[in-house]
Amino acid sequence: MCGIVGYIGKEEALPILMGGLKALEYRGYDSAGVAVFSKNEINEKKTVGQVEVLEKAVGDGADFKGNLGIAHTRWATHGAPSEANAHPHSDCPRRVFLVHNGIIENYKELKSYLSDRGHIFKSATDTESVAHLIESFLKEGKDFKMALFDTLKMIKGAYALAIIDANNPEILYAAKLSSPLVVGVGNGENFLASDPSAIIGKTRDFIYLKDGELAEITGDKINITNLEKQPTPIEIVRLEWNLEQAQKGDFPHFMLKEIFEGPEVVRSPLCEEELSLKKIM
Ligand code: GLU
Repeated sequence: MCGIVGYIGKEEALPILMGGLKALEYRGYDSAGVAVFSKNEINEKKTVGQVEVLEKAVGDGADFKGNLGIAHTRWATHGAPSEANAHPHSDCPRRVFLVHNGIIENYKELKSYLSDRGHIFKSATDTESVAHLIESFLKEGKDFKMALFDTLKMIKGAYALAIIDANNPEILYAAKLSSPLVVGVGNGENFLASDPSAIIGKTRDFIYLKDGELAEITGDKINITNLEKQPTPIEIVRLEWNLEQAQKGDFPHFMLKEIFEGPEVVRSPLCEEELSLKKIM
């Protein structure tokens, strides 16, 4: 389980996303990626290794000028560390882009169901099945939000997801189950992160998303519903922590934090089957 950062607002998204990834570097990861809605499409870049490598690859950021984006540091559970397996992942027409922390336990069934229906997979990850599943509901004529509800009801396992729609740069979507995800509340801008430390320099007001919630985030509004499509109460928590406190939370050190944040990773049978030795040690 590694790092997620998202941004929507008035500022350039890229520096905020890259800054967030850097703040999350204290967690182990093997690759990184970023996607920004820029010049009417979503542009992405993915690299293996440090966030610094990704930074160099985006260069002066000319292809990443825009106010909506998502970024990720990956700790591979399904599929080797590689550019193709790094997040974000997308659907066939490159409309849906998403980053994911956790494990989609029923990805094999989903992948074979979707492959039989003509979806072309570009990675060996569990995550990519989610993007194609959303696409399949969009193809049935559902709107984006309904496609997300239907998708979330079908996926099993653990997830924190940040999702963007190339057809609508006004909304950043987020959903979670058994993996942490917070919305950072700003002024005319909002943030998303797997850990408040990614954005503690940008805001001190956070909404801790709960399991089974789907958030629709715009620059000045946050709507949260449960999977029964009912609005859920929004509680904003003010964190007066400095960066180190934000990184460690209530845990005395980082190792304990990672252990307690990821029990689903340790429990998962798929994980036992495919998890790299590095991650278990
Ligand atoms: N299971 C996903 C993958 O292997 C996400 C890993 C993570 O949480 O970083 O790509």
